[in-house]
Amino acid sequence: MSENKKADKITAVKGMNDVLPADAPLWELFENTAQSVLQSYGFQQIRTPIVEETKLFARAIGAVTDIVEKEMYSFTDSMNGDNLTLRPEGTAGVVRAVVEHNLVYEGPKRLWYKGQMFRHERPQKGRYRQFHQFGVEAIGFTGPDIDAELIMMSRRLWDDLGLEGIRLELNSIGDAAERLRHRADLIVYLESHSELLDEEAKRRLHSNPLRILDTKNPAMQELVNGAPKLLDYLGEESLAHFHGLQKILNHNNIPFTINPRLVRGLDYYNRSVFEWVSDKLGAQGTVCAGGRYDGMVEMFGGKSTPAVGFGMGVERLVLLMKDAAEPEQPAQCDVYLVHQGEQAGLQAFVLAERIRDAGLDVVLHCAASNGGGSFKTQMKKADASGASFAVILGDDEVANHVATVKALRDAEGAAQQSTVPFDDVVDYVVDQIIGDHDCGHDHGPGGHVHHHH
Ligand code: ATP
Ligand code: MG
Repeated sequence: MSENKKADKITAVKGMNDVLPADAPLWELFENTAQSVLQSYGFQQIRTPIVEETKLFARAIGAVTDIVEKEMYSFTDSMNGDNLTLRPEGTAGVVRAVVEHNLVYEGPKRLWYKGQMFRHERPQKGRYRQFHQFGVEAIGFTGPDIDAELIMMSRRLWDDLGLEGIRLELNSIGDAAERLRHRADLIVYLESHSELLDEEAKRRLHSNPLRILDTKNPAMQELVNGAPKLLDYLGEESLAHFHGLQKILNHNNIPFTINPRLVRGLDYYNRSVFEWVSDKLGAQGTVCAGGRYDGMVEMFGGKSTPAVGFGMGVERLVLLMKDAAEPEQPAQCDVYLVHQGEQAGLQAFVLAERIRDAGLDVVLHCAASNGGGSFKTQMKKADASGASFAVILGDDEVANHVATVKALRDAEGAAQQSTVPFDDVVDYVVDQIIGDHDCGHDHGPGGHVHHHH
């Protein structure tokens, strides 16, 4: 490479974002909170591949939908000609896995998943080409009680995350026969206003008219609002299911509005459909959406098995979390190890490993890469790391087989400093940290001993 010509920068793919260290704690907080809420309702995790056969999505989601018509990242495997797709949503893969492994053989299953999804959309706030979902699928449950459970579970998550103002919209889109009767009237209605239909709607008029109700075109909202409502076509069983769900929600003080226009953008739904919507995200306000899909297991060759699920958009929820409160950056570590001199540098490695053996997180100052750095600069880094203690090794310490331990987060603000025999440093630091917390030494996975006052 020539000396004065810089290499071209390679940037991330449009609509696909990095989560940088400054934001990672918020994502981690979301993921940990979601995971523990889902577990508290007895849901078990399932992990499926990001790539599936294209026909899986075409069959599950429906050929005449936004996702399948224009949003999928599909490609041909150059090795064998297979038609493959990066998953645009999670339900199809989970249902495939459930059927493939006969998971509901022993009875119903409560499942959850998380991961990247891919849709070729126009990137904007809250809408990306790679995004993340947490989702749940309850497979093998018939009644409205499980629909209510999913809704209560998501409500608990908003509460635990401290999110307010997320409202629930509910609808029932009935069963296949009811949708067929509605469809006939809907086509007649739309045809009688054909001058108001956009190109997409004209194309879908006979292939999938219900999708027209899901249009995002503002010019068509009035037309859509006047269309025949599926709710008026529900038979006794669908109505009983819908009322059953509302009764449980009312009994548990969960407010909702019935939105007869809510049809969802995927074909697999029937009966209950719902969305949780925030007004703080502009047009991309839906943070969680789901419903029943009683026909899908059978469609994939399994025994007829009712099911219900939802998917949450993690990016949108993290935006809301950011809006709700800028969280304190958690400490990088419990202990920052400061050292100067060759011998001290060697001993610092030994001590850092010992402290980690005791379960604490240690950042070791990297003298060889960062330049030694005076004690003063190293102490500044120690302070910025959020550590509770700096452990200091210099020539004097090494000569006397001791270390200096300095409290960085002392309540009195006093720079409390002690000289501790080298072999006692681990016990000393552990004692100090545990002794400071009535609740004991809480060290969850990836957690630190938080030590802020
Ligand atoms: P929208 O109406 O916003 O396009 P959708 O009906 O296509 O949403 P679903 O397929 O139901 O969305 O996905 C569930 C959730 O996943 C959405 O409610 C949203 O929070 C999130 N989501 C969907 N598409 C995207 C995207 N492109 N970028 C970020 N989040 C998304
Ligand atoms: Mg969409």
